[in-house]
Amino acid sequence: MDGNSFRAEHADGLDATTRALTERRDAVLGGSYRLFYRRPVHLVHGRGQYLWDADGRRYLDVYNNVASLGHCHPAVVEAVHRQMQELNTHTRYLHRRILDYTDDLLATMPPELGPGRARAMYMCTGSEANDLALRVARAVTGGEGFIATTEAYHGTSELTSGVSPALGSGQPIAPTARLVPAPDAYRTGAADVGAWFADRVRAAIADMESSGTRFAGLVADSIFSSDGVLPGPAGYLAEAVDVVHRAGGVFIADEVQPGFARTGEEFWGFARHGVVPDVVTLGKPMGNGVPVSGLVAREEVLAAFSDRVPYFNTFGGNPVSMAAAQAVLTTIRAEGLQEHSLVVGSLLLAELRVLAQRHECVGDVRGAGLFTGLELVRDRGTREPDGPLALEVLEELRERGVLTSVAGPHGNVLKLRPPLAFAREDVGTLVTALDDSLTALGR
Ligand code: PMP
Repeated sequence: MDGNSFRAEHADGLDATTRALTERRDAVLGGSYRLFYRRPVHLVHGRGQYLWDADGRRYLDVYNNVASLGHCHPAVVEAVHRQMQELNTHTRYLHRRILDYTDDLLATMPPELGPGRARAMYMCTGSEANDLALRVARAVTGGEGFIATTEAYHGTSELTSGVSPALGSGQPIAPTARLVPAPDAYRTGAADVGAWFADRVRAAIADMESSGTRFAGLVADSIFSSDGVLPGPAGYLAEAVDVVHRAGGVFIADEVQPGFARTGEEFWGFARHGVVPDVVTLGKPMGNGVPVSGLVAREEVLAAFSDRVPYFNTFGGNPVSMAAAQAVLTTIRAEGLQEHSLVVGSLLLAELRVLAQRHECVGDVRGAGLFTGLELVRDRGTREPDGPLALEVLEELRERGVLTSVAGPHGNVLKLRPPLAFAREDVGTLVTALDDSLTALGR
């Protein structure tokens, strides 16, 4: 699923402690787990955009969007601590927190998904949010088949893994699903990537229906993170969403990655495209590290499911989770993090474009807010992807105290997606580390 994934047999030349921890992990944890880095990082402390390992070494975190405000943000720590001391139960009792938070959350949505017109539900993981979204979509359309992109990741459950080709060939795609290539303006060279993508979606619907499967919807992460970070020109998704609606399907916007101010221009990734999803799913950054996720849908969309099927998620929407989520929304506003993401993200993009002039192997640089993709190629003319180089760059960056990872079908796109605490000063640190890493690799 992530090119920067290793199992312990790769871990040669480790110091005694790292080796012991790696071996112990291998002995007791399920074999599906993977580690980042050939020399795994043992983190013990975090603050803002920084992480520290067991030897006291500091790293600039350019990867983690879960602690989106910054690691151990005091507002979240304090809110969770206070609520935990008071009460933690579940959604079968009355509690004000979940209601106050929902009012606040819906106020961030476009009017069609706003207060009075939409409703929210809560879970603990992005997978659960998407799983429910797929069930809701089936209930409201009477259809069964979903369209996802060829390197998408939407979750771990049976339903969501069936539309998650990023899990690799060992994970079968649902027979009712169809995959479409992601709208990659760099690789397709399409003049109008929106029209290009809409055509693929139209063809996939036709193919699905010709085999007797009724179309239920399109599920997409509007920044196409695992497809290689493809923000594209704002607005380009609108045509595909229109195709979906005309065919009687619903559009599920998976905001687990682009949501909560990440893309800078708008609070939600889908909003960059001026589209109104039928269902929005939320996760990762929602609780700044506390497992909380959610789903927002128009009332009539949700009703088709909720009138028939009860839903209770033991931990979902509990007062402590809601306290964390509330602290996140409040802090994004109080610290002006959406604007910050836009300003610092633009600065980073500009600096990376200067860097690209010095290194031929940088084929493309793209981003929205603090979500940036840097694509490495063997040759700028042929655009042949260079996945092995990307992995070497990750290792070099790690040695220079910068943590990140890779994305895309060829694993050749550096995914630069730091906590929003990432500051102007960090741009220089990151770009210098990249410059030095590419130079050290002779590229
Ligand atoms: N959707 C997207 C776009 C994701 O990136 C992820 C997690 N990587 C998920 C859904 C699943 O979220 P979780 O791991 O919290 O279940």
